Amino acid sequence: MKAVKTLLSLLLAAVLVAAVPTVHAVESDYTAVEPIRFNNPDFIRGMDVSSVISLEQSGVKYYDENGVEKDLFRILSENGVNYIRVRVWNRPYDAEGKGFGGGNSDVEKAAEIGRRAAKYGMKLLVDFHYSDFWADPGKQKAPAEWSGLSVAQKAQKVYDFTLGALTAIKNAGADIGMVQVGNETTNGVCGVYDWADRAQIFNAGASAVRAFDKDVLVAIHFTDPQKTDVIKWLTDQLDVYKVDYDVLATSYYPYWHGSLSNLTAVLDYAAEKYGKLGMVAETSYANTLTDTDSHPNTVAVGANDQGADLLWDFSVQGQADEVRGVMNAVNNVSGGKGLGVFYWEGAWITVGDTTGLQGDALTEQIEKNKTLWEENGSGWAASYSAAYDPDDAGKWYGGSAVDNQAFFDSKGRALPSLRVFRDVLPAIWGDVDGDRTVDVSDAAIIQRYEVGIPTAVGEAQIACGDVNADGEVDVLDATWIQRYDADLPAPERIGTEIM
Ligand code: CA
Repeated sequence: MKAVKTLLSLLLAAVLVAAVPTVHAVESDYTAVEPIRFNNPDFIRGMDVSSVISLEQSGVKYYDENGVEKDLFRILSENGVNYIRVRVWNRPYDAEGKGFGGGNSDVEKAAEIGRRAAKYGMKLLVDFHYSDFWADPGKQKAPAEWSGLSVAQKAQKVYDFTLGALTAIKNAGADIGMVQVGNETTNGVCGVYDWADRAQIFNAGASAVRAFDKDVLVAIHFTDPQKTDVIKWLTDQLDVYKVDYDVLATSYYPYWHGSLSNLTAVLDYAAEKYGKLGMVAETSYANTLTDTDSHPNTVAVGANDQGADLLWDFSVQGQADEVRGVMNAVNNVSGGKGLGVFYWEGAWITVGDTTGLQGDALTEQIEKNKTLWEENGSGWAASYSAAYDPDDAGKWYGGSAVDNQAFFDSKGRALPSLRVFRDVLPAIWGDVDGDRTVDVSDAAIIQRYEVGIPTAVGEAQIACGDVNADGEVDVLDATWIQRYDADLPAPERIGTEIM
């Protein structure tokens, strides 16, 4: 009898061990990513959702994977997102107060986004463009109000604007943890291009951040890590011109920006030579090549869908695997200097689904979408942006180019890939409810499980309850967990990550 019991225990132990790495139940078409052992316990699993308010104003609603309507920020938090990024434009409005689009992302919107993020325990990265609209490698136009100023005058404006905006965002209830002094400033910032001038702008922003709160990180954001020598040179310039910053950030879009190993190498350079933290400020990946709002997507059939460094399918699974891959590449930065990854605009879905529509029905829906983009700024640009950017946005304005890169389907329901932000975290011994803490609620679940009362917890998570390592999850484990929660001696592995 004893032999049989031992055999059963061994079999159970084998089942438990096999089940441990997968926290969520495996579905036929989606497999949870392998967890990552993060060198930095606070590794940022972030998302930019700058357009969310204008999307909500356009009627967009968000639902969790089970179809329950919830605040977007709650859904993100429940899926493991721990940091929100928001862009700030100085004045994205024309003389009549009509918004330029792209979320009409002003200080007021950033404050509201920061407040809602903080409500669910998420910190905020404030991304100043120092422009009235999109700033990127091809455009670094100063705000209209600052045009014609000297570099020194602009620097003073940057200081005042940065300090004022951060104060307003904080006062709204946001938990600001990091600030970008410029967006994708590979070729310039705020209308200045000479390096001595750029350094004045960067340092004006940085000194405002230091004055605001000395614990807030300052990030410099470049692009094109695939141009390895260029980004190393840019990093050197920051040192030559004595720019004050903590984090070297880059965008990383796999269809443009080279291999993951090169990404790590570029961030390693700043980490090893200058002691800087490394981060991906923007990444994204398409979960389908289908468009849902009739505005052409960045990644589509025949557009950015081929390339040596595209390691993943354009699928929900591929989207999650890309995020895991980029996080792993940043985690590999030497000296534990990998700070984290932000996914860009992971909730920018269509304001009205045009999929499958034809003829008059299609025309009608497109017209509805255009009206919403114009009125609420929920497309990448509205026609009103011609007042500031006549040659590009003012001509090519329209909807979302990334609706196929969101973590929500066209109706606003979360895709399984959103779980990647939680699934990358290793499970914890004793944490059977998966809330990242070990306490009496875990013990209670084990007690119910042992007597056959149904729990909402899957077998794989129950397996994390074998804290005394005897191959069974039972009342002994529940008791150890209660002791651990009461700070009494308990098995050493309680509370440690399972790898
Ligand atoms: Ca689109």
